[in-house]
Amino acid sequence: MDLKSLIRDIPDFPKPGILFRDITTLLRNPDGLRHTVDTLTQQCKDRFDKIDYVVGMESRGFIFGTPLAYQLGAGFIPVRKPGKLPAAVCRVEYELEYGVDRLEMHEDALGEGCRVLIVDDLIATGGTAAATAQLVQQTGSELLGFAFIIELQGLGGREKLPDVPILTLIEY
Ligand code: 5GP
Repeated sequence: MDLKSLIRDIPDFPKPGILFRDITTLLRNPDGLRHTVDTLTQQCKDRFDKIDYVVGMESRGFIFGTPLAYQLGAGFIPVRKPGKLPAAVCRVEYELEYGVDRLEMHEDALGEGCRVLIVDDLIATGGTAAATAQLVQQTGSELLGFAFIIELQGLGGREKLPDVPILTLIEY
């Protein structure tokens, strides 16, 4: 199935000069959605032994991470923007082009020995995924790998991540 044909390109969003890869058109397509989740599930099963938890980043990481966790027989853990999670959190700061951003995770969500996969819709510069990896690794969990629907190549995203397998379905 040609998943790329279901991604819509939106020029100048959210800022002039940015070409945004819109996944809502993929989500809206029943076959596209099923194929995406099923393919990612199969690739994860082929690549990783026993995943305990899938960690997904706000907000599109939730959309793909939760059905993937369900299919893998794993739990799902949300990583969120500051101030959204109700219980005690651990946090990480990471650099943006201008300024810094923060991500948070419940401090009791993971611990020593948990086997973890990080999932998001897209990797661009890798800042979000690298920060999430830091959050996961500072709990003593074992980071098994990453899965993304889309990789924007040539932005150095992969090079920012720890040396674990990275699965992607669509590349630009
Ligand atoms: P990075 O931190 O790798 O530069 O950016 C990746 C994060 O920004 C992901 O959480 C992703 O959801 C979001 N993102 C950046 N650009 C795009 C885009 O073109 N399309 C979509 N769907 N998400 C994007």
